Amino acid sequence: MDVSPILESLNDAQRQAVTSPAEPMLVIAGAGSGKTRVLVHRAAWLIDVVGIAPQSLLAVTFTNKAAAEMRGRIEALLGMPVNHLWIGTFHGLAHRLLRRHWREARLPQNFQIIDSDDQLRLIKRLLKSLEIDDSRWVPREIQYFINAQKDEGLRHQHLDDDGDLDRRQMISLYAAYAELCERGGLVDFAELLLRAHELWRDNPELLAHYRRRFSHLLVDEFQDTNAIQYAWLRLLAGDTGVPFVVGDDDQSIYRWRGARVEHILRFQKDFPAAKIVKLEQNYRSTATILGAANALIANNNSRMGKNLWTDGADGETIKLYAAYNERDEADFVIARLRDWIDQGNVRADAAVLYRSNAQSRVLEEGLINAGIPYRVYGGLRFFERAEIKDALAYLRLISNRDDDSAFERVVNRPTRGIGARTVEAMRAHTRANSCSMWRAAGAIASDELNSRAANAVLAFLNLIESMARETSGLDLQDKVDHAIHASGLIDFFRKDRGERGETRVENLMELVSAAKSFTPDLAEEMSPLDEFLSHAALEAGEGQADAWDDCVQLMTMHSAKGLEFPLVFLCGMEDGLFPHQRSIADPGGLEEERRLCYVGITRAKQILYMTYAEQRRLHGMDKLSHPSRFIAEVPDEFIEEIRPRVQVSRPVRSARRSKSSALQEHPGIRLGQRVRHRKFGDGVILNCEGQGAHTRVEVNFETAGTKWLVLSYANLDLM
Ligand code: ATP
Ligand code: MG
Repeated sequence: MDVSPILESLNDAQRQAVTSPAEPMLVIAGAGSGKTRVLVHRAAWLIDVVGIAPQSLLAVTFTNKAAAEMRGRIEALLGMPVNHLWIGTFHGLAHRLLRRHWREARLPQNFQIIDSDDQLRLIKRLLKSLEIDDSRWVPREIQYFINAQKDEGLRHQHLDDDGDLDRRQMISLYAAYAELCERGGLVDFAELLLRAHELWRDNPELLAHYRRRFSHLLVDEFQDTNAIQYAWLRLLAGDTGVPFVVGDDDQSIYRWRGARVEHILRFQKDFPAAKIVKLEQNYRSTATILGAANALIANNNSRMGKNLWTDGADGETIKLYAAYNERDEADFVIARLRDWIDQGNVRADAAVLYRSNAQSRVLEEGLINAGIPYRVYGGLRFFERAEIKDALAYLRLISNRDDDSAFERVVNRPTRGIGARTVEAMRAHTRANSCSMWRAAGAIASDELNSRAANAVLAFLNLIESMARETSGLDLQDKVDHAIHASGLIDFFRKDRGERGETRVENLMELVSAAKSFTPDLAEEMSPLDEFLSHAALEAGEGQADAWDDCVQLMTMHSAKGLEFPLVFLCGMEDGLFPHQRSIADPGGLEEERRLCYVGITRAKQILYMTYAEQRRLHGMDKLSHPSRFIAEVPDEFIEEIRPRVQVSRPVRSARRSKSSALQEHPGIRLGQRVRHRKFGDGVILNCEGQGAHTRVEVNFETAGTKWLVLSYANLDLM
């Protein structure tokens, strides 16, 4: 057997990992050292050489896109399709299991997945129905609390209030939320993982079956597993399973979502026989880019430590551009993109990365004006658009009448004379009778409502019933087509004559195409409609519907994990934006931001730009900003400033010099000085830079937080 295709493009350490005998394996290695490549080749090796059946492999990746890519690469190596190989995200795999074993998981067969918006809406409704003040009990905080518990594997029964009244309230809201979901057959993202774990934990025979079946487990991005994901893997592996995990402690960037890099150490304890392989050669980036990344991450204290090297060329220096404001930044990025495309490069090879989603808008505007096709990955998502969620809510009701969150969404959309009072009466009935909104609507229409309201409600119930009847024999795409028309949504948005209405109609049509090109792969376990709805909910958490054409790629640095591009821009390199304001005061948080910056830099193969704006309007507020401290952490030799301006000031490094001259010019102003601002109140001066009319100070206000202000306009009173 010729195994050269599987082995020849690997270095010694990689080959050792790929061909290792069946024993637990931990590959810890830096960015771009071939971890994902090792996983792909390991799968091919197991199937082709060891003779493991594809259905005996379980592969876990971080995004659906990564999963699709991994499958493609394995198939390319083997020269054959591997349909029965289970490969997906933790959420996707958990979902698949729950569909197969809905009975054992104690779920209704047609359970629906709700995304985080639906979840938030459900929580708001819950607070309202319990007459709880949502300014005191903030829905987002409750949502965070519930998900954090689930991520740790905890149900409300497991929680102790420790005599703390606030905690007691949170726990009881968790319980009430759980009951609401139970009643509607609704499953949120965190619930998928928790249920899948309980499914195996509570059904030993089922677990034994899957332990026999999945003789080999492959896990990418292991550093970002959370407690429940780790517990799930641990359960599946048992004492005899063979987990093969790869990760990089320097790329752990989801601590805020419960990820625990400590699982790397835990793994070594749980599987004492585990072999550990380190990969240190980077194949992705130029020596310059790698040097910058290594220097940056060396500033973190909590690291396992490793030394990445490359034998590639130095490549170009990293270009740093100081923009006047966010528009200037966008213009700069677009001009560089244009040059790149004009030189005959592929658009999809260029990525524009940023810290927070809201930054994409200005960049998008610029790209549209310049006529450069682009795609926002993980940003404004197709399946999250309002009209799409409306249409999906109708489909969900067709599939499951007790889906309360779908019911509430469309009961009066388009408007059909069912007012807030009527809806409130239904809610009261659901509370009193522990039933769904659907049942409540039927009940109160016949005995509580006046005839006009009752007729409106009955008309809605009949509409859904007749839609269910009329679509029952249709295939998926015709079902969707029927639903968007019969629901009245198309007419409703057509009446909205502006651009918006038109876009919405187009989007609804696009939903029909999405249904058309959708291939169900769980056909045995669920109806194509339910599978499509689940796909929509899972997909909404991530990319967009369409394929990866030749477009410039826009995404947050979080979404860029695992990917690579010849040309990369890191935009908005400003303190307060990146590192994010929230994390600056917290050392752990700052280290996580630095890891994120490391992820950003190491996405670049050949050319890297960093940009920052001296003034930025974001979320409707103007702010003066200071270049990110991460820029200063990259040694000078790797960076070249390219701002075409006379008065170039090397950021951060020159700050110290200008600080003193600024202070000399303004005798009253000194660091630590207490000041009062008309709008922001009292605060303390933290920093000062610039000269003359441009002198600006950074003030930490007691209530308004930290702000940069231009001294000559700020009218600060010295105290
Ligand atoms: P990340 O930490 O960013 O996820 P990674 O460690 O998973 O990175 P890969 O994406 O697997 O790294 O590999 C990085 C790049 O290096 C890819 O383009 C890959 O094809 C290439 N590569 C990996 N190993 C080799 C090798 N032995 N020879 C040539 N190219 C390699
Ligand atoms: Mg990888």
